[in-house]
Amino acid sequence: MVGEIMNRRQALFLSAVLAVALGIAAVAYALDEPPSGADAEKVSVVATFYPLGYMAENIGGDFVSVKTLIPFGVEPHSWQPSVSDMVSLSSADVIVLNGAGLESWIESDLFSSLNLSGKVVVNTTDGLPLLPASDHGEEEHHHDGEYDPHTWISPYMAGLQAEQIFDALVAYDPGHADYYTARWETLKIRLDAIDLRYQQELANKTRSDVIVSHEAFGYLSERYGFEQHGVVGMSAEQQPSIEQIRSLVDMMVDKNITVLYVDPAYSDAYIVRLNDELERQTGREVMILELYLGLGPVDGKDYLEQMESNLESLKAGLVG
Ligand SMILES: [Zn+2]
Repeated sequence: MVGEIMNRRQALFLSAVLAVALGIAAVAYALDEPPSGADAEKVSVVATFYPLGYMAENIGGDFVSVKTLIPFGVEPHSWQPSVSDMVSLSSADVIVLNGAGLESWIESDLFSSLNLSGKVVVNTTDGLPLLPASDHGEEEHHHDGEYDPHTWISPYMAGLQAEQIFDALVAYDPGHADYYTARWETLKIRLDAIDLRYQQELANKTRSDVIVSHEAFGYLSERYGFEQHGVVGMSAEQQPSIEQIRSLVDMMVDKNITVLYVDPAYSDAYIVRLNDELERQTGREVMILELYLGLGPVDGKDYLEQMESNLESLKAGLVG
């Protein structure tokens, strides 16, 4: 409960700072030349993190300027906005959120300190078929919501999210509806194609369990019929217990698991330890492959290329 009070205090503090900052910005703006060039006429979109910014840019093209709040590669769960982030939010035309409890900082206290009149706020998972947060028994994880927030890692769910961004751009800027529609249809074709490939290429899988460093693949496992087992559970800071390592090694032997998955945003220390432990006990070695979380461009791959790469990595562990 102390946490809640702190958050509210923090929000009050931030809204006070914000009022001052905006006052200064308004004065600076009045003294300054009017903004020149095309940017002034573009729809200003602020997305909370990379995949949503990627979709907004894809659909909005020349008529939007997109800013992403959370730096690339940073796990969004425990991120907190700065005052300058609040200023960005307050000057946006369209604010794009993941929702499903991912950005609790925006959905709870801080939103109440922003003036939202004239803005379109898109909660991209609103009304979507969300999964419950996975239950780790005694583990205390900091996804504080009741839902699994990792929707964007499923190309199917991402398509539904992108559609909400498309709807919002058309609602805010109906003059360019035809342009947005054409670009949305192009993006949708790509996302649908990736979803179809996942369905077809994982249909004849011979194994149905994957071990991952962070349990972020619930929407993939639900749609394409496999099960994820996290080494560190839902949050990044947890450390696996000796018992957890032991039971994972047993499972790897039982189910003939040949691949362990990591993401560049997480330390691979526990996955490596698991591999060492398996090798020590059984003499077997496994492959360690990337499953991307799509938190920023990485290894030269953009969001969609990461989703395609994830399919190849999953096939290596599940098929054949
Ligand atoms: Zn996560």
